[in-house]
Amino acid sequence: QQDFERRFNIPHITDIFPDALSFPSTFCLRMRTPINEEFAEGYPSDEEWHGYINNNDRVLLKVIHYSSPSSAGAECIDPNCTWVEQWVHRAGPREKIFFKPEEVKAAIVTCGGLCPGLNDVIRQIAITLEIYGVKNIVGIPFGYRGFSDKGLAEMPLSRKVVQNIHLSGGSLLGVSRGGPSVSDIVTSMEERGINMLFVLGGNGTHAGANAIHNECRKRKLNVAVVGVPKTIDNDILLMDKTFGFDTAVEEAQRAINSAYIEAHSAYHGIGIVKLMGRSSGFIAMQSSLASGQVDICLIPEVPFNLHGPHGVLRHLKYLIETKGSAVVCVAEGAGQNLVKKTNATDASGNIVLGDIGVYIQQETKKCFKEIGIPADVKYIDPTYMIRACRANASDRILCTVLGQNAVHGAFAGYSGITVGICNTHYVYFPIPEVISHPREVDPNSRMWHRCLTSTGQPDFI
Ligand code: ATP
Ligand code: MG
Repeated sequence: QQDFERRFNIPHITDIFPDALSFPSTFCLRMRTPINEEFAEGYPSDEEWHGYINNNDRVLLKVIHYSSPSSAGAECIDPNCTWVEQWVHRAGPREKIFFKPEEVKAAIVTCGGLCPGLNDVIRQIAITLEIYGVKNIVGIPFGYRGFSDKGLAEMPLSRKVVQNIHLSGGSLLGVSRGGPSVSDIVTSMEERGINMLFVLGGNGTHAGANAIHNECRKRKLNVAVVGVPKTIDNDILLMDKTFGFDTAVEEAQRAINSAYIEAHSAYHGIGIVKLMGRSSGFIAMQSSLASGQVDICLIPEVPFNLHGPHGVLRHLKYLIETKGSAVVCVAEGAGQNLVKKTNATDASGNIVLGDIGVYIQQETKKCFKEIGIPADVKYIDPTYMIRACRANASDRILCTVLGQNAVHGAFAGYSGITVGICNTHYVYFPIPEVISHPREVDPNSRMWHRCLTSTGQPDFI
């Protein structure tokens, strides 16, 4: 069986400290603590119930079928095998823990842009650390910048401090882009005595977290670096869903509905909504599918023409003539070949995208003026309103489980990992496996075709 398996083995601190497990404290994490003796009746005793996850528990990620054994050969040892199974480590509390809680100084840092649910994750990490018995928990203010800026003091965290932070959006700790070098971050961690680092952020932040993990190993530091993927765009490889995405799709409904009402109430009204999605159109696609009010959905993965006989503008003219109004939903990274390249980059080195929403608005106005048909074009960009929202119920549950599992992973001695949900199970991934490139909408997928069926749009090429 093992011949067919490719396992994503996740890095463990014992890789550099081979005998480290000779000092583990067997810490019984009371996952279900009865409130008092009376309540204890009926609860399994610690011996009967422990709920620990075995280090070898894996979750099947996918089965890849090959047309012949030879094409599977690179992945598979068995000469007759035509498939390969990919497995990932299951997340959760381990019976043997690597760190002594009283020796832990844990730090949490949030980087990149805002995303609904950040406070829920911070809260849950702090609460779970306290349950493990950690007394020294701090927040690093304003992203990686907080490691270098002497004016920014660490924020002590406890259950009391974080109790109600999930009731508002944003990040208690603040976020930022750019900041110190990886070497400076690790030096600062050494000075502060941090041996557990929880990093909440997107692809850039995770590249940083992996580099911090590698630098810690190089310096032979006993540090666990654990990521929690934060991407409102839902563009992290191998994961079913990332937190904030559900909330974003839900909030986007308000913007789409407003665009629809404006368009529907105006004579020849056209509503254009720009949603998040730098390289992946998941928010635009799911929001269009959910709303049922979108006539044209444009995403980065599917090229389109604006002008010409098969262009978006021609279809808009058709919609105005037949329906009297139209709604366009465009992802921020769509049609970048059509807008002027800015060449500008942000503090983290990400390319600043051209504004496709404004471009479509201007070109639509120009086009209808030229053809002599009146059109009332309205443009809505709800990006910052969506990002600043507090998470909805389903995202909150996701954040809670991810936060708890991040702490379990760190205590188990894993480092250079990130937590996620895969085939409905919570798992640990090695960071490089999930950030090699963004997850994208497959233009041949059923979901994109369902979206096209729902909007009724043609191909714009
Ligand atoms: P978002 O999805 O909101 O853009 P992100 O994590 O991708 O989140 P970035 O601004 O790209 O946001 O990066 C966040 C932090 O990670 C920044 O402080 C940046 O300096 C750092 N960073 C980005 N890329 C790397 C890298 N390759 N190595 C080390 N650090 C990095
Ligand atoms: Mg990013």
